[in-house]
Amino acid sequence: MLKFVTVGRDMPEKRDAEARRQDFDEIYGEYAAEKAAEQSARCSQCGVPYCQTHCPLHNNIPDWLRMTAEGRLREAYELSQATNTFPEICGRICPQDRLCEGNCVIEQSGHGTVTIGSVEKYITDTAWEQGWVAPIRPAQERKESVGIIGAGPAGLAAADMLRREGVQVTIYDRYDRGGGLLTYGIPGFKLEKDVVMKRMAQLEDGGVTFVMNCNVGEDMSFEEIRSAHDAVLIATGVYKSRDLQAPGVGADGIVRAIDYLTASNRKSFGDDVAEFDSGELNAEGKRVVVIGGGDTAMDCVRTAIRQGAESVKCLYRRDRANMPGSQREVANAEEEGVEFIWLTAPKGFTGEAGSSEGTGPVRGVVVDRMRLGAPDATGRQMPELIEGADYIEEADLVIKALGFEPEDLPALWGVEGLEVTRWGTVKAEFETGRTSLPGVYAAGDIVRGASLVVWAIRDGRDCSAAILEELGQSAAVAAE
Ligand SMILES: Cc1cc2nc3c(=O)[nH]c(=O)nc-3n(C[C@H](O)[C@H](O)[C@H](O)COP(=O)(O)OP(=O)(O)OC[C@H]3O[C@@H](n4cnc5c(N)ncnc54)[C@H](O)[C@@H]3O)c2cc1C
Ligand code: SF4
Repeated sequence: MLKFVTVGRDMPEKRDAEARRQDFDEIYGEYAAEKAAEQSARCSQCGVPYCQTHCPLHNNIPDWLRMTAEGRLREAYELSQATNTFPEICGRICPQDRLCEGNCVIEQSGHGTVTIGSVEKYITDTAWEQGWVAPIRPAQERKESVGIIGAGPAGLAAADMLRREGVQVTIYDRYDRGGGLLTYGIPGFKLEKDVVMKRMAQLEDGGVTFVMNCNVGEDMSFEEIRSAHDAVLIATGVYKSRDLQAPGVGADGIVRAIDYLTASNRKSFGDDVAEFDSGELNAEGKRVVVIGGGDTAMDCVRTAIRQGAESVKCLYRRDRANMPGSQREVANAEEEGVEFIWLTAPKGFTGEAGSSEGTGPVRGVVVDRMRLGAPDATGRQMPELIEGADYIEEADLVIKALGFEPEDLPALWGVEGLEVTRWGTVKAEFETGRTSLPGVYAAGDIVRGASLVVWAIRDGRDCSAAILEELGQSAAVAAE
């Protein structure tokens, strides 16, 4: 260990940008065994591992790094999976620069962080290859059942924990495939789809029942689900896209990021997607403008590059240092040919023949130039308009990636007594996920607002522990 003084930080090989532009495969390769051991040995085994504190799952990072450095890979895997339901997924898509790696002690001392995410991915990918990933086989079946609404990471993590304890689990989801945003939001170049599908197969093989194409509130009522199970977990994520109010915003060719990414991900599965085949949600040959500066915007610009767009530009109202998206993803996008136009905001859209009525196809974005002004209450500098500096950015496809809000579940589901916050997220108790309705829990984005996969996993695990406790207590009462 402690090799950080002599061994530099080295990520797995990143594919050449030109090759990356041609497909939707992940951009990083896998470590070879020696490289993984060498990079793990850079860990300083410091007494106070801030990486662990800043990992939402409190993964025992220093210990599994040491085991990997010593070639004890199977033990490293056992330890890693004890706290993380999907380590190979987090290793790929956690924003490590803001979480574990950003707080690594040797990073703070200027030596370059230990590549924690890449080692975590390597350990679990190896475990799958070697057949160490155990099937879910509860020691004893229990009669209690839990209904989970939503097959995203929060719902899946809870299902995994509950099934391991023998609880009967049914997951209801409105999509045809499970995985939530892991499947239909996040593109393959960050997370290849077979990684997610392997986990789905593991859960199915472990006895989880999936009821797909079931939109709760339409195909089945919330009360039906509630009366069919001993407890219910709401893990529906947030899907209401924030919109723009600007002249011409209704023009053809101005689309929502979630529709665009879902269509692209469906094509990666080989599905027929009419809106893609018609060109509506396909960037090929088009001048694409993406509006937004978060992770969703980064995924849109990089998808458009891979679809063969003529040009891809990203408008963001603050500057590079103040954008919410990962700096690593911005760098990847720039390498692949995306142009960022910082300090800009859409003022309106021009349509066919210069009309701004929003009838024909979009032809351009009227762009306001901004500057950063005084900080707001959170300390973040507010963008201010520079009067009279607007210009037109030509575009055939405009993708709105302005973030997501929760749907109004109490109204959609006609359920009284389910309390929500002033942001519309479901009100749930910290660390247990208990809602205002008895026996009903909530986890993931529907509680936090748009967040991260690792937090959804954490919530799903916490909720399942609380549900198990409640089921245990009910079983004890019934036996008295
Ligand atoms: C484009 C994009 C890129 C992202 N990239 C990253 C990243 O790189 N790293 C990261 O950590 N996070 C990323 N995130 C965030 C991350 O995907 C989410 O925080 C996470 O998926 C939330 O998990 P969840 O289980 O709460 O919800 P979701 O993953 O949204 O799953 C919710 C599920 O509920 C189902 N559902 C909803 N309503 C109903 C209903 N009425 N009836 C039945 N089923 C229903 C949905 O179909 C869906 O399958 C990204 C998000 C987006 C949009
Ligand atoms: S789960 Fe995410 S934050 Fe935690 S160690 Fe893994 S990559 Fe880092």
